[in-house]
Amino acid sequence: MAVDTALTAPAARYPWHDALWANLAHPFDRLPHALLLHGLPGLGKNAFALQLAQVLLCQTPQVNNACGKCHSCQLFAAATHPDLLIITPLEDAKNISVDQIRALNGFVFLRPHTAPRKIVVIQPAETMNINAANSLLKLLEEPPLDSILLLVTSRPARLPATIRSRCGRLQVKPPNQQMALAWLQANAAGTDAVQDLLQFAGGAPLLAKTLAEQGFAEQRQQLRQDLENLSAGREDPVICALRWKNLGTNLCLSWLYRAVLDLIKSQAGVASGSSLDSDTLKKIYKNTLNISVLYKYIYVIHDYYRQLNSPLDELLMLEDILIRWNRISRLQ
Ligand SMILES: [Zn+2]
Repeated sequence: MAVDTALTAPAARYPWHDALWANLAHPFDRLPHALLLHGLPGLGKNAFALQLAQVLLCQTPQVNNACGKCHSCQLFAAATHPDLLIITPLEDAKNISVDQIRALNGFVFLRPHTAPRKIVVIQPAETMNINAANSLLKLLEEPPLDSILLLVTSRPARLPATIRSRCGRLQVKPPNQQMALAWLQANAAGTDAVQDLLQFAGGAPLLAKTLAEQGFAEQRQQLRQDLENLSAGREDPVICALRWKNLGTNLCLSWLYRAVLDLIKSQAGVASGSSLDSDTLKKIYKNTLNISVLYKYIYVIHDYYRQLNSPLDELLMLEDILIRWNRISRLQ
C-alpha cells in the first residue's frame, strides 16, 4: 500500500500530531540522540519525522516551527540539505543494507555544514537487515555529538531489543474517531464507506484515505465473495491467489487476518467481533466453521504475514493460504 512513505515533508501538519509537538523536549538539545518514532501505518509518521527534521535543522527555529526562511530551511525545501540523510531501502530492495548504515558513519561524524546539527531519518527502520542493525547498534552505543537519528517504524517489535533500548520513544497515536472522521471528510474522496474503512485501518486516517481512494470498499466485498466461492468450489485458489497478489499481499493478508479473527470472536459471542466482514461471513457460513480450526488457520496467516519482505514467494504464500481455506470451509 502506498501510504505514509513520502520523502519530502508536507506543508500542513496533521491535527493528531499536535500532542506530539506539545510533548517534545525544549530546548532540542535535551532530545535523545536517537528517537524511535512508532505507531500504526497510516498516521503520518514519516511526515512528522521530516517536519521535525526541518525544525531541528532550522537556524532560527521558533517553538516547534521552522522559520521557513533561513538558508537551512531553503536547502531543506530544495531537498538538497547537506546535514540531512534519509535512509530507506534502495530501489527494488526490501531491506536497508549494512553498506547504507556504514555510510552513515562518514556522515554523522563530520561537523554540520549549515544546520545546528545533523539529522538522519531511517525508515522503515525494521527493514534493516541483521548486519545493518548491528552496525547501527555500534553507532548508538557511542552516539556522535550534534546529531539526532530518527528511526521510523510501524513494527517496533521487529527491531532488536538492543536498538529499542537505546532510543527515546515517541508513539504516534490514532486520533479519536471524531477528529479522524472530520479530517477524512475534508480530505478523502469517495467517503461513503469511510467509517468502516477507518475501523479497518485501526483508526489511522491516512490509511483509511488510501483505502477509500483505491476503492477498497468494493475490493473488500470481492474478497468476501472470493472466500465464499473458494468454499463452494467455484473458484480456483491459484487464480484467486494471483488476483490477491495484484491487489496487494500485505493488504489481503491483513484483511483476511482481521476477518477471520472477527469471525472467531463473533462465533464465540464476543461483541467486539462484529464487523462488516464477520457479519457477512457469519451469514454465509452460519456457524458451521470450527473455532479451533479457525484458530489454527489464523496462526498460519500470522506466520506468513510475518514473513512478508522475506525471500518467500508471495504468490506461493497466498496459494497455500487459499487452498487451506478451501479445505477448512467447505460449503455444501
Ligand atoms: Zn529556518
